[in-house]
Amino acid sequence: MTICTAYGACEAHADLTPLHIQRRTLRPDDVAIAIAYCGVCHSDAHQVHNDWGNTAYPCVPGHEIVGHVTAVGPDVTKYKLGDRVAVGCLVDSCQHCAPCDEGEEQNCLKGATATYNGKDRHTGENTLGGYSESIVVREKFVLRVPAALDPRCTGPLLCAGITVWMPMRKHGVREGSKVAIVGLGGLGHMGVKLAVALGAEVTVITTSPGKANDARALGAHHVLLSTDPKAMMASANAFDFILDTIPTKHNVNPYLMLLGRNGVLVLIGAIEPLEPIHGGLLMRNNRSIAGSLIGGIQDTQELLDFCAEHNVLPNCEMVDIRDINTAFKRMQANDVKYRFVIDMASLREAVPA
Ligand code: NAP
Ligand code: ZN
Repeated sequence: MTICTAYGACEAHADLTPLHIQRRTLRPDDVAIAIAYCGVCHSDAHQVHNDWGNTAYPCVPGHEIVGHVTAVGPDVTKYKLGDRVAVGCLVDSCQHCAPCDEGEEQNCLKGATATYNGKDRHTGENTLGGYSESIVVREKFVLRVPAALDPRCTGPLLCAGITVWMPMRKHGVREGSKVAIVGLGGLGHMGVKLAVALGAEVTVITTSPGKANDARALGAHHVLLSTDPKAMMASANAFDFILDTIPTKHNVNPYLMLLGRNGVLVLIGAIEPLEPIHGGLLMRNNRSIAGSLIGGIQDTQELLDFCAEHNVLPNCEMVDIRDINTAFKRMQANDVKYRFVIDMASLREAVPA
C-alpha cells in the first residue's frame, strides 16, 4: 500500500481540501499510474455535493485521468513502465455477464465499479478518483493514449467524449444527419466536434447568446436560442437526432417538438426526474426518447484512436488544483469554455508528499 496526496471533500457542501489517501498494493493484473492531468466533469460537482444522495465521504472525484505507468503487476501484458495511459469512469466490472461480454461494462449486471464513489470488488472500500497524485487500476480498464493526442487535453475524452460518442454511434449519426446539441458545456462541445467529424449538419441549442460565436468556431453550422420561442417554433420537426446535456431537471417538450419523423432525443445530462413528457408530442412523427450512460472500455479506446486520427480534442482551460473550488463554482455558473483540466503538477506544489 502507498500513501498519496489528493484533493477531496469530507462532507456534503464542504470545499475540496488536501488529503492523504491510500492506494492499494498491486494485484497481479494491476497498473500503477502517476496522474499528470484530470478533467473536471459536472458529475464531480454533483457527486461531491451529494446531489444524487449516494456519496460516501471522503469523496475524491475525477474520472478523466491521464498519466503514465509507474509499475505493473506480474500478470500485466499490455502496458509497461512509462507508457502514456488514461482511465475513465470505470475501474472494474464482473467480466462474466452479457453486457460485460458485449463491451458494455457500464451496464454490468453485477454493477460496474466507478472510478470514484464506487465499491472495490475485493475489499468493499470506497473508490477514490483522479484528483490525486496516483491511482492503481486493473489492466483491463486502462486505456492507451495515442501519441498524436495532446495529453493535456485528452482527459475530457474519457467521460465527456465517450458519453456523447456512444449515442451518436448507436443512433446512426452520419454524413448529412441533422443533429442538435442542447447545452454547450463540457459534453455539448464534444458533441459538436464529434458530430461535425461524422459529417452531420449541427445546430447548437443554447440558453447563452454569448456562446454563438464559439459554437460556430467549434464547427456548428447553426445556433438556436432556446429562450426564443419564435425561433424554436420555426425549427419544429427539423432534426433527426437531439443530444440533451442539460445538467438539471428541465422540460424536455420544447426540444421534443424539434424532432422530425422517427427522430430520437437522447438524454445524457439530467440524472434525476424530469418534468412530465407530453405523450402527444412523442407520438407525433413517431418520436423516441432514449438515454445513454458513458461507454465501455473498447468503445472508449476506439474514440481515443478516432480523435487521434481526426485531430479532435476538447477545448480545455488548465487549472491549478488550489483553484478547484472556484472551478466548481464557475462550472455551476455556466462559466467554462469548455472543460477544466487540473494540471496535477500543482498538486505536488500544493501538498508536499
Ligand atoms: P457543463 O459543462 O456544466 O454543461 C452543461 C451545459 O448545459 C451548460 O454549459 C449550459 O449550456 C446548459 N445548461 C446548464 N444549466 C441549464 C439549465 N438550467 N437549462 C438549460 N440549459 C442549461 O456540464 P457537463 O460536464 O457537460 O455535464 C452535463 C450533465 O451530464 C451533468 O449533469 C453530468 O452529471 C451529466 N453526465 C452524464 C453522463 C452520462 O453517462 N449520461 C456522463 C457525464 C456527465 P448553454 O449555456 O449552452 O445553455
Ligand atoms: Zn464525467
